[in-house]
Parts: sequence; C-alpha cells; structure tokens
Amino acid sequence: MDSSVDSQFVATLVACIILNVGCLQENWYGYHIRDPSEWGKMYARCADNHDQSPIKIEEAETVYDRVLSAPVLHGGWEYVPTSVLMLENNGHTMELVFKDNHIRMHGAHLTHEFYLKQCHFHWGEDIEKPGSEHWLNGKQYDAEMHCVFINVDFVPGTEEEIYDREAWAVFAVFIKFDSEKPNEYIDYLLSHTDAIREAGHNYSFNQEKKKADIRHLLPDNLSEYYRYQGSLTSPPCYEFVVWTIFNNPIHISRDQAEKLFELHNFVKERNVGYMNITGNFRPPQPLAGRTVYRSFRDIDDKLNTAYDQLSNGLVILFTLFAALFCARD
Ligand SMILES: [Zn+2]
Repeated sequence: MDSSVDSQFVATLVACIILNVGCLQENWYGYHIRDPSEWGKMYARCADNHDQSPIKIEEAETVYDRVLSAPVLHGGWEYVPTSVLMLENNGHTMELVFKDNHIRMHGAHLTHEFYLKQCHFHWGEDIEKPGSEHWLNGKQYDAEMHCVFINVDFVPGTEEEIYDREAWAVFAVFIKFDSEKPNEYIDYLLSHTDAIREAGHNYSFNQEKKKADIRHLLPDNLSEYYRYQGSLTSPPCYEFVVWTIFNNPIHISRDQAEKLFELHNFVKERNVGYMNITGNFRPPQPLAGRTVYRSFRDIDDKLNTAYDQLSNGLVILFTLFAALFCARD
C-alpha cells in the first residue's frame, strides 16, 4: 500500500507540473488512498468532531422553522449568451465552474447575498452502489450534487475564511439514477466529458440557447429543504458552510450516470493506467448536538396546526354564545 501511495504522490506531482494546475496540496487527499480517515493528519479541522459535514438527517429529529423561505435565484439562472462555463475534472470530481460570478442567490433565511461559483458531484464505488454524502431517513442516495455559493462580502485567503460562519452556502441535491429519459441539462454537460476524461483537464464553453437553463440542475420544488451549519466535505474541512439540503431529488438516466464513472483520477496503476473516479464521498460525520432545521411542515405539524385552529374556533364560538347569553339576561 505504501508503494501505491508513493506512486500516487509521484503521479500527482508529475501531473501538476505537466498540466500546470498547481494542485499538489489539493491532491494530497483521496477517497481510497489517503482516505477520509487520514485527512486529519494534514488538515486538523477534518479531525474535528464538531460541525463537520456530511451528516445523516432524520426528518423526525429535525425542527420546523417557519422563517426558512425558498431561496431566490437571479442574475442569469436562465440563458445568458455571453456566459462562459468551464467543465473541469479535478481528479476528485466533475466540476462545472461559473466564471462570471453573475448568478446570484439570496433569501432562504441567509443574511447575505451569494454568487454561484461551481457545482460538482459525488457518486458511489460503481453504478449499483449509493454515493451521496448526506443521508436522508436512513437512505444514502445514488449520488449528490453540490452547488457552491460564495458570500459576496467574503474575501478568500483571509481569517474570515475560517471564522465567518456564512462564508459559503452550499445547495445539496440528491440524485437518483432512475430516469427513463435523460435529464436534458445534465446531458448537455455530459456531452463534453470526453474533453475532460483525464484528471487536471478542463473545457470552456459558452452557454447555448435553450440548453443552458441552469435551473434544471435543481429540483422543481425549492421550498422544501433541511438547513444546518457545517463544513466543507473535503480538505481543508473549514466549518464555514451553511447547508441547504433539498428534500426532493433530481433524476438522471443510468446511461448518463455511467459517464461520471468514466472520468479518471490522478492515481495510476501499473499496467492498467489511470483509475476511474469512484466512491468520492465522505462518510457521515457526528451531528454533535447540532439542530437540523426543516423549511416545511410534516404531518404532525399539520395536525397540530389544524388542532390549534379548531381549538381557537371553538373558543371564539363559546365566547360569542356566552356574550349572546349574557346580553339576553
Ligand atoms: Zn461536494
């Protein structure tokens, strides 16, 4: 195993020099070699047992919070002809980078405005195995997409990076590989994956009319989500992320999902070549006393509300009758 580690390190070093991507530090970690159990050796916060992500969410243990409104998306969520996007294989995942920073988001009980920086994906060891990072009601989904929003007031590289609890806001979307039809927008992205098969490669392109509605990456219903304070799910595991985990998944076809499993990472096996990116998810971390909030009412909340309304109605009715009775006297 040690020789594998060395070969990965050398391969990473060489790839970084050749591709000039300056990625040695970023590629110290992996999911099979230098896996999540080792991240804390290099990045202390990854070994922190508080405020880390992902987590397991049980709806019955979450708390309904009526202030959690739906996020407001603006500034180019639909077609923007001049927008430049970059699809990148960074050796850990496929990442869609929004270079213009013009896609904005506010609301959802966040105190700042945010711009969309990138969306990326986490998936399983193979197409039959689940690979989401968060779990919901005892279930790990087939895959998970994260869309990373940066606080417009956030200055990278400052102390604020660590201490501002709302530096990043990340949308998490569960993905199921069960669609009969391909998801049109994901299909548009995946049509470019041949150009980024190898780790460190990227491909820039302009949005094309009708095919570039980024909103299609998200579920239709944005008003139902879970909210908690957590961290990056990869090194350096900074605890500055406000998480929004949508209750409803998106659906892609198995043919589409297979394209993700064809991407290569930086690990080269002798006589085999570069390995595919698989199992790129971090296991659930301790909740450690945190409260997970919910933007939507569950059936108990609805019954309680109905009961409260009925009680209030009866009190009013009783008061009216009492008033009428007294007036008659
Ligand atoms: Zn992620």
